Amino acid sequence: MIRPEPGEVFDVELEEDILEANKKLAEENAETLRRYGVKSFDIMGSVGSGKTSLIERLVQMLKGKYRIAAIGGDVATTIDAERIGRHGAKVLQINTGKECHLDANLVKKALARLDLSSIDVLFIENVGNLICPADFPLGCEKRIVVISVSEGEHMVVKHPYIFAGADLAVINKIDLSTIMGVDPSKIERDIHLIKPSLTVVRTSCKTGEGVAEVAKALGL
Ligand code: MG
Ligand code: ZN
Repeated sequence: MIRPEPGEVFDVELEEDILEANKKLAEENAETLRRYGVKSFDIMGSVGSGKTSLIERLVQMLKGKYRIAAIGGDVATTIDAERIGRHGAKVLQINTGKECHLDANLVKKALARLDLSSIDVLFIENVGNLICPADFPLGCEKRIVVISVSEGEHMVVKHPYIFAGADLAVINKIDLSTIMGVDPSKIERDIHLIKPSLTVVRTSCKTGEGVAEVAKALGL
């Protein structure tokens, strides 16, 4: 097995500076959102796990109760933002170009473009990726990881950091468990080995199953 020796990873110092700068900006974002009384949620997960579908379901369910906005992070397209916008939420798109995660600086710019006094709830859809979003807090009240049974049964053990830093885990596409031959209880056990206190909700964003439980877990 090949592993980098300590200090051998390229740009390790540069990375520390970047992470420190991101953390400061995330704290500023958190303060801004608190000042306007906006409840904010960072939705993370792989491409195809169901982040957009979950936001769509939550917007449908909660739009009578809250004024909702969404920020969509995507490398190149506006497909997801358009999907969420159809349900009546205000949507702002961030195209990250080559960046494989959102960072607090991009979110700060997005917040400056939103009228925060007319928003109660903000969903931020992160770029589809289970690795580096873990290192880049955005300043949201809660971080949610969405995984789906269609990603196979090893998704959790291969991405421990994102679960360690999450406030809620959602196991989506539960309607496909049997077809995929993936046991959601095994996924849940893996999550709890990493973070015993983490709330786990099983959903099918296709049928709507479990979505009310997600809203409840988010305090909405
Ligand atoms: Mg999406
Ligand atoms: Zn990245």
